[in-house]
Amino acid sequence: MKLVFHGAAREVGRSCIEIQTQGDRYLLDCGIKFTTEGFSYPENVFDVVKLDGVLLSHAHLDHSGGLPLFEHYDMVCPIFCTHQTLALTKILLKDSYKIAHIKRLHPAYGKTDLKEVEGSTTRVEFDKWYSHRKLTFRFLNAGHIPGSAAILFEAEGKRILYTGDFNTRTTRLMKPADFAKDLAELGPVDCLITECTYGNRQLPSRAEIEPRFLEAVKRVIANGGSVLIPVFAVGRAQEILIMLAKEQWDCPIYYDGMAKEVTRNVLTNQSTYVINKDELHRMFFSKVKFISSEQHREEVARERPAIFVTTSGMMQGGPAIGYLKELWHDPKNAVFLTGYQVHGTNGRHLVDDGYVFIDGWKTPVKCEVQKFDFSGHADIEDIKRMVWAVHPKKVIFQHGEEESVVNMVEWTKRETPFEPYGPSIGDEIDLGDEKESKNIASLSK
Ligand SMILES: [Zn+2]
Repeated sequence: MKLVFHGAAREVGRSCIEIQTQGDRYLLDCGIKFTTEGFSYPENVFDVVKLDGVLLSHAHLDHSGGLPLFEHYDMVCPIFCTHQTLALTKILLKDSYKIAHIKRLHPAYGKTDLKEVEGSTTRVEFDKWYSHRKLTFRFLNAGHIPGSAAILFEAEGKRILYTGDFNTRTTRLMKPADFAKDLAELGPVDCLITECTYGNRQLPSRAEIEPRFLEAVKRVIANGGSVLIPVFAVGRAQEILIMLAKEQWDCPIYYDGMAKEVTRNVLTNQSTYVINKDELHRMFFSKVKFISSEQHREEVARERPAIFVTTSGMMQGGPAIGYLKELWHDPKNAVFLTGYQVHGTNGRHLVDDGYVFIDGWKTPVKCEVQKFDFSGHADIEDIKRMVWAVHPKKVIFQHGEEESVVNMVEWTKRETPFEPYGPSIGDEIDLGDEKESKNIASLSK
């Protein structure tokens, strides 16, 4: 069996790993990457018409956003994902298509392709074995967002765990991933493919960061300013609502963008791994206010004090920039980013260099800016613990920027008996024949 890396290799975005067995080809995820210009797709995936299956770990567009383009190029194979991932992917794909049209990014695909993604999908349940052609696979809770899964699969006598995006800490919304517990029942793996978004950083604990965040919001409101909280529609938006539920607010809380539709979906879907639904329900149906039109949004954006919880989390789309237009010039206001900011996005520009692009204009932001690391991802210590617990023969680090991947590869070489890989795009790892395996880690640094 061979693995080919088409994306998320020494970068964060466009996750896409091809599994090649004798005669069959499957994909693990099929995402897009957000860039300043728009987005990019997985590279060098040829003959999509001949693919035999896609295993989709979760709904985020950097894992699912390439699916409609592949459908457009006549991909005919089934896409396997959890019930909730399908529901959320539908919402996210529809929205990204809409944004691409508004911004004239012109994705090659059309609405029919979006429908075909849905039509091709086969829903799977967590913690059950499934078979498809030469693959046997099982979806395990990844603790990242509702519906998110790590995928354990077997083919040609090898067993591999692909973590997708995972979190081993309990959040306000999700039960954590526990692969060691899963594998204690299921047996060891030959190869672990893990994300390493935070492969070079430790994150503060939730117990520390959450009060700091709430205090900061309270301070801005008490001074008569307004707070913009850009959120990822899936996961972070709901978590922020559950956090805000802990306090009494004398100002309105507006909940805008796709977060609304996603939250409704999260509340109506059954999931063993989603928690605090009652608090979320209370906030969503009785505490927050929704935006009814563009004009309504413009009006409320000028309100002081107020809290605006809105997409998108990296301020690349969604209404967030619309609010910032009314907030950026006054130091009394604040923008509190709530998660990872990819290189090249407005959010990253804001954190690193203090500016954003508003309607194409580079705008130095004068209001307060802070980033709170409410991560849905494991940090460096969590990843190390997970790697030890899973105890694979080989470990492949991907879905991390160059320095994270290198850091994890070096650590593995130095401190563990496992064989590390840090593939670049286009690299192949042969898991079947030990002699033919390219040690990509040693090629790169
Ligand atoms: Zn994700």
